[in-house]
Amino acid sequence: MQKEPEAEEGNQRLTRLMIALRDQGVIDPAVLAAIQSTPRDLFTPDLFQERAWEDSALPIACGQTISQPFIVGLMTQALRLEPRARVLEIGTGSGYQTTILSKLSRLVYTVERYRTLMKAAEGLFKQLQLTNVITRFGDGGFGWPEQAPFDRIMVTAAPSAEPDALLAQLKPNGILVAPIGKGPVQVLKRYTGDGRGGFAVESLTEVRFVPLLDGVAKEL
Ligand code: SAH
Repeated sequence: MQKEPEAEEGNQRLTRLMIALRDQGVIDPAVLAAIQSTPRDLFTPDLFQERAWEDSALPIACGQTISQPFIVGLMTQALRLEPRARVLEIGTGSGYQTTILSKLSRLVYTVERYRTLMKAAEGLFKQLQLTNVITRFGDGGFGWPEQAPFDRIMVTAAPSAEPDALLAQLKPNGILVAPIGKGPVQVLKRYTGDGRGGFAVESLTEVRFVPLLDGVAKEL
């Protein structure tokens, strides 16, 4: 059967994106499959539909951004997810990263400080029939104490310093990945629990994230 020209073009865009991710070092087959099966255009505002399959960050509502697919792949790979993992994500944003986490773990708890973004993301999780995502509107800087400890934590907004409150909610052998730093450019760090309350810390690469802000946003 012949494919619609539009579908054909979409496939080519997706193929190009997947090649770009592999070229940059995202090689975990499960991570690549999760990205490949997640329709990024659903999470991209109308104004930027043409660019939904580009390997770049794009603006979303509330002055926030949907992350660059390469960075999503890199951070997801760095988290070394296991199918049984309970994962905490700080900064739901568009819900794109959340969706990819949900395909690779048992449960994802995600926190966002903009109600508008949270509502939009919840609608998409429903549309995609993700049954293992639990959302919360609030300040993710405090984590989710009632559900702690977590096997994995991913922070997609940049804390200015070491996120002690979040590290305290990690299991002894857990892994936390976060961009750390004050300025427009931060260092992506991975904290791996040593099982005795300490962490091995690795600096992975430079990244550009919006800051992790205090409190919830004052908007409707
Ligand atoms: N992973 C997202 C990227 C979102 S950008 C995606 O794939 O689309 C980072 C998000 O973190 C923004 O939506 C911002 O509002 C949120 N954020 C910043 N500080 C926060 C905090 N203290 N608690 C919860 N969310 C926060």
